[in-house]
Amino acid sequence: MIHPFVFPGLSTRVVFGHGTLAAVPEEVARLGHSRALVLSTPQQEEQAKALAATLGERAAGVFAGAVMHTPVDVTEAAIAAFRAHGADCVVSLGGGSTTGLGKAIALRTGADQVVVPTTYAGSEMTDILGETAAGEKTTRRDPAIRPEVVVYDVDLTLTLPVGLTVTSALNAIAHAMEGFYAPDRNPVTEALSREAMVAFRDALPVLMQHPQDAGARAQALFAAWGCSLTLGQVSMALHHKLAHVLGGSFGLPHAETHAVLLPHTTAFNEDSVGGLLDPIVRTFGEGRAGAGLWHFASSVGAPMRLADLGLSSSDLDRAAEIATRNPYANPRTIDRDGIRRLLQDAFDGRCPD
Ligand code: NAD
Repeated sequence: MIHPFVFPGLSTRVVFGHGTLAAVPEEVARLGHSRALVLSTPQQEEQAKALAATLGERAAGVFAGAVMHTPVDVTEAAIAAFRAHGADCVVSLGGGSTTGLGKAIALRTGADQVVVPTTYAGSEMTDILGETAAGEKTTRRDPAIRPEVVVYDVDLTLTLPVGLTVTSALNAIAHAMEGFYAPDRNPVTEALSREAMVAFRDALPVLMQHPQDAGARAQALFAAWGCSLTLGQVSMALHHKLAHVLGGSFGLPHAETHAVLLPHTTAFNEDSVGGLLDPIVRTFGEGRAGAGLWHFASSVGAPMRLADLGLSSSDLDRAAEIATRNPYANPRTIDRDGIRRLLQDAFDGRCPD
C-alpha cells in the first residue's frame, strides 16, 4: 500500500563527483555573487585558504573559527568578519560544525551558502540549525537556513580519519532510520534512505582497511547525501532527541553519541512501527533492526558504550529525566523507565533484544 505523502521538492542544487571543489568559483558566480567568505574549523584552515586562493577575486576572506554546536559568540565574530570584508555570500568547507556556522550567518544576514561537506553528518541538505548560548542548545527549522548549493567532492573525504568515518556514517544512518517511520516521510526519502544504508554497509568495511579507496569513499558520500536529504525533509523523533540531550546537557561528542545510541533507539521503536524498519533488517541481518545495527556497528569498530564517551553512571537518571520532561512525537510512547533502561543498555554497550 502506498502511504499518502507530500513531496516538498528539492530546492538545493547538488554537484557531486571527484575534483568538484574546482567548481566552487563557478557556483558562486552562478548565484550572482562576487565576494565569498570562506568558512572552516581551525583544523581545516589551510584547505580553506587554498579554496580562497582558487576563488581569486571572488574570495572576500577566510574565517577559520567554526566549532561544534554553533556557539552564538562565534557566529557574531564571523558576522563581524563577513561585514568587515564586504562579503556577499559564504562558502562553508568542512563538517557539520562549519556548515552550522554558515547557516547561522545566512539566517542573520540573508547570505547565500555554498556548502562543501567533508564528513557524513548531513547538515548540508537541511533547514535545521542547532545553536548554543549560555550552555544551552536550541534547534530551529527555517527555510532561510537551507543552503542554496552543495558541492560534494569525494576527494576531500579521503583524509577523514577511520574513526570519524565510522561514527559519522552511523550518524547519517540515524537520519535514515528515523526517516523510515516519520509521519511526513515520502517515497524519495524512503528510496534514498534504503540505497544509503546498503551503500554504507558495503563501503565501511572497505574503508576500515583502505581509507583512501576512492570507490568506497564515493559510495559513502553518496549515502551521506541520501541521509542528509531525508533529515532535511522529514521529522525526527526519539533518537535525535536523546542525542541532543546527551550532547547539549552532558557535552558528549556528536557523531560518537549518535553511533552508540543508534541500535538502542532503533530497538526501542522497532515493535511500534509495523514493518517500517524492515529495510534495516534486510540490510544488516540478525532478524531485528536494532540488533542488526548493533552487530554492524561492532564489526566496523564503532564505539559501543556511553561509558566510554565521558558519561558517568550517575548522569543516567538526570539524562532520562531531561529526555522525558517535554512530550514530543515518537512512534512508541516515551516513558521515563523505558528511556532509563535504554540509556543503561547504551551505557553498558549491551546488544538490544
Ligand atoms: P565537525 O564538523 O565538528 O568535524 C569534526 C572534526 O573533523 C573537525 O576538526 C573538522 O575540521 C575535521 N574534519 C572534517 N572533515 C574532515 C576531513 N575530510 N578530513 C580530516 N578532518 C576533517 O563534525 P561533524 O560530525 O561533521 O558535525 C557535527 C556538528 O554538526 C554538530 O554541531 C551537530 O549538531 C551538527 N549537525 C547539524 C545538522 C543539522 O541539520 N543542523 C546535522 C548533522 C550535524
